[in-house]
Amino acid sequence: MRGADLSRVLDKTRGNEQTHEPMATAGSLEALRELNRLRVIDALRQRGTASRSEIARQTGLSRTTVTTLVNDLQARGLVVEQPLLEIHGRGRPPTLLRLDPSVGAVVGIHFDHRHLRVAVADLSSTVLAEHWQDHDVDRAAEEALDAAADLVEVVLGEAGIERSRVVGAGAALSGPVSRDGTVGSTVILPGWEGLNAVDELTRRLDLQVAVDNDANLGALAEVSFGAGRGMSDVIYVMVSSGVGAGIVIDGRLHRGVTGLAGELGHVRVRAEGAVCRCGNRGCLETVASTDAVLSLLRPTHGQDLGIRGLVELLDGGDAAAVRVVNDAGREIGRVIAGLCNVLSPAGVIVGGDLGVIAEQLMAGIREALDRYALPTVRAGIELRAGVLGERAEVLGALALVIGDTDRLRSAGLAALHGDIATTVVG
Ligand SMILES: [Zn+2]
Repeated sequence: MRGADLSRVLDKTRGNEQTHEPMATAGSLEALRELNRLRVIDALRQRGTASRSEIARQTGLSRTTVTTLVNDLQARGLVVEQPLLEIHGRGRPPTLLRLDPSVGAVVGIHFDHRHLRVAVADLSSTVLAEHWQDHDVDRAAEEALDAAADLVEVVLGEAGIERSRVVGAGAALSGPVSRDGTVGSTVILPGWEGLNAVDELTRRLDLQVAVDNDANLGALAEVSFGAGRGMSDVIYVMVSSGVGAGIVIDGRLHRGVTGLAGELGHVRVRAEGAVCRCGNRGCLETVASTDAVLSLLRPTHGQDLGIRGLVELLDGGDAAAVRVVNDAGREIGRVIAGLCNVLSPAGVIVGGDLGVIAEQLMAGIREALDRYALPTVRAGIELRAGVLGERAEVLGALALVIGDTDRLRSAGLAALHGDIATTVVG
């Protein structure tokens, strides 16, 4: 893609010109060292920061080998020591290492219904700059895409990142996204239907782009940085104007053949219930989304009741609000319990507008899980509220690109791979 640009960025890996020799003379020992350097880089990419001992544990390499490899990478400016800001207690803490931000950067974009959020991070997942702005994303897709491209420029400028160092961009959309990046039939994002978000963003950003829906990327973010860290099997439930799920199995998002897996909101819970936006009747979303909860309360609490007003009612202990939100939690919990019996996850993480704020919703979900999940399955589940709040999706968009080793290798680390091979020999 941007191979030429990236090799320029990685110029510092070249070292002394006189040492350049063809790979053919290097032999298998050097090839092995080169592979091991990439393993060290991968470990730092996954962990953000790590001591030499932690890298040795993660890669299975000996401490001595890791020290040698790290010295090589430090000499090339690809790995730096994290400054020790404060030292508590006795003894010197181990020196933490991290990738130098100049190795590469990624861009994350979240198209929410009413706003845009853009962030840039280095390959160790440290966010270098982040911005958001109000925007009527739902109705004006083209304008939202243009605005996102402008905001990417702003964020890159603020972070001092040259465009040539960006290895890819991830984007989260609040609607169904098929595997090829096309936005599916939806009334939530009416201006986006049929549009290929990957093509549109690739054209505007001149970057490799990956797109996924908000629940999937919320799941990825919570598993990578938040409440699900360290868990390999997680059901992330997003309760907002719709209800969706991101399902992580064996550490990977499960997207299904179409890319639409996790449409929990369209599991039927009422035999002849209200008509859903999907065309069916009695879907979970019609009884347990933020919109469903608000529409139950508006006749008695005022037609202009919004999410902020709902939070105030819940904080004040308003009996109707507490009851309605708790009931919504139990409806959602019942559906999740069925899914848990099928998948037996380690974690159920609840996010979204309502998910992160309402303990009454969590209480309802807990009651239903206790009641309807098999006792042994239930015993293996941690039920947690998401901790990343409104940043979950943009962080997931970053994680989507950072976690894609193939993409990174082809875009940036391949250049590194080649440079090291020709530099170290001789
Ligand atoms: Zn439906």
